[in-house]
Amino acid sequence: MNKSEITNLNTFPNDMNARPLALSGHVGFDSLPDQLVNKSTSQGFCFNILCIGETGIGKSTLMDTLFNTNFENFESSHFEPKVRLRAQTYDLQESNVRLKLTVVNTVGFGDQMNKQQSYQHIVDYIDTQFESYLQEELKIKRSLHNYHDSRIHACLNFIAPSGHSLKSLDLVTMKKLDSKVNIIPVIAKADTISKSELHKFKIKIMSELVSNGVQIYQFPIDDETVANINTAMNGHLPFAVVGSTEEVNIGNKMLKARQYPWGVVQGENTEEECDRKIQEKLLPYFSFKPLFFVSLQQTYEAKRQEFVGELQRREEEMRQTFVQRVEEKESELKDGERELQGKFEQLKRLHAEEKSKLEEKRRSLEKEMSVFSKRRAASELLQAQAFNTSSNNKKDKERKK
Ligand code: GDP
Repeated sequence: MNKSEITNLNTFPNDMNARPLALSGHVGFDSLPDQLVNKSTSQGFCFNILCIGETGIGKSTLMDTLFNTNFENFESSHFEPKVRLRAQTYDLQESNVRLKLTVVNTVGFGDQMNKQQSYQHIVDYIDTQFESYLQEELKIKRSLHNYHDSRIHACLNFIAPSGHSLKSLDLVTMKKLDSKVNIIPVIAKADTISKSELHKFKIKIMSELVSNGVQIYQFPIDDETVANINTAMNGHLPFAVVGSTEEVNIGNKMLKARQYPWGVVQGENTEEECDRKIQEKLLPYFSFKPLFFVSLQQTYEAKRQEFVGELQRREEEMRQTFVQRVEEKESELKDGERELQGKFEQLKRLHAEEKSKLEEKRRSLEKEMSVFSKRRAASELLQAQAFNTSSNNKKDKERKK
């Protein structure tokens, strides 16, 4: 459809004063992706990142480096009685793209004697976020468009640069979480480990993860436009990262780097072998919802299925309990009815017996009454005869006199 056709459609032929509507741009389905991008850009993105790692491993520094900001950082001690999850939300803007970023930090992780307590709080936290989203979704009047989705989108698991192997706590935690969140393992403070050690360490970590069946996040390779870059990214896992909040003057440029007596390590310098470019490589994925959210949606769907299954199970249980109660009540009522029927029959028998006794009495009384009346009639007759006789006698005597 060209511009003049559109103008004609918007003009009333009879109304000469009608103002033709000027188009602000090209109209056509080829502009749909741009419209979607514009919509997403104006609405902004929401991204929640969970950082799991011991105190002092470099979580806060990496977040500052990744998002080129100085977030509020609270230094935590190694004497926390239990793991606390501290979520902080920030509104960031880069060019015209807005990002509502929530960084969840595991305060006191791995500092307790009982290691189970370390991961259990994290599992509970993640489940609670799923639960609250589900509750919002199940509401009759839901407002998901302005609901602050607090579900975790990515989980960075910080591995200490020991060069040996994964700690059992890291393994257990990742195993417990891999079905719930997208786990991205990162080797923290990668500047403290040599190139060859780092290479061996990565291979060791990957083989441990595979042998323990831990599912880490794999960048999707089914879209051919990103297949190559994503395959390369998957080959770099676990990422080796270097964080820094300091800016050092390198070649007249202020760059994020770590300055040592022997030289400078740049946090933003791309070197294949140390994956420092993770910042730049990861960020587009963090912001680009559709790709990154695939596995999150699967997790959410699984959780939802579980919830719905649980609901159905409870409903079935309630139905069965109800049917059982009804049957019990029914049999109770039938027993009561039988009892009442028995009592009624007994009363009926008693009543019939009583009635026949009374009938008997009535008959004997009637008999007695007829005998009595016969006797009375006889006595009256006798009396009359006696009276007649005596009066006759009297008359005879008088006559004789
Ligand atoms: P958090 O407790 O895990 O948040 O750790 P922080 O981010 O507060 O970092 C603890 C210390 O480690 C700070 O002194 C940082 O300067 C330092 N640090 C952070 N990242 C790196 C890194 O990549 N390499 C080195 N060598 N030190 C780092």
